[in-house]
Amino acid sequence: MMCAMALDLSSAWGDGGLGVCRSLELAHQSLLCGGLPVGAVVLDLDGELVAEGRNRAYDPPGGDDRLQGSPIAHAEMNALARIATSADMSTMTLWSSHQPCAMCAAACEFTGVGSVRFVAPDPSDDQPGPDPSGVEGHWLIVANVLFLEGVRAYSGASAPMLVRARGLEPETIDLLDAIAPQQLRTATLQEALGPIWHQVVSAAQRRQHRIDG
Ligand SMILES: [Zn+2]
Repeated sequence: MMCAMALDLSSAWGDGGLGVCRSLELAHQSLLCGGLPVGAVVLDLDGELVAEGRNRAYDPPGGDDRLQGSPIAHAEMNALARIATSADMSTMTLWSSHQPCAMCAAACEFTGVGSVRFVAPDPSDDQPGPDPSGVEGHWLIVANVLFLEGVRAYSGASAPMLVRARGLEPETIDLLDAIAPQQLRTATLQEALGPIWHQVVSAAQRRQHRIDG
């Protein structure tokens, strides 16, 4: 019964939680805009949305994010930049679609964010960190499919990061190769995932099998 529920997108989406699902939706928005697909949200103690942001480092300047078009316009920074200095962040949780980089981790520490969570290790790291605990493997696949498709669209299929990912995350690259690029460019993330959800779940299972040895 649990297995059947996990295979169903709407059930999985309902179980995913706001931090995971909204971070991924924002990453998907970055993909649609031609940017780097990373999204982040800040939630309060009750799990309500306080602020959100997506990577805009590669967006043209002039949008509504203060940092847009600058090298520090990471998803987490854009989310934090929407919170007042006077706010007590100690009870807040920042969720990102990917493990925060050194800059964003330092910003979270500096601003006193109570907890930092992420959906997937950063595929742009030479040595990606361990998988996050408490996040279903299918969301990790979704996060990395979005990220790597964004890199492919921006830098081409021979981008070093994609070549490296073929060794580090073969199931994700196989999935990327199997789906049409336009499949991910739907108005909403759920529309993109619906037709390929069984492939996402299968990739997550194969990845887990590889890791378990
Ligand atoms: Zn960052």
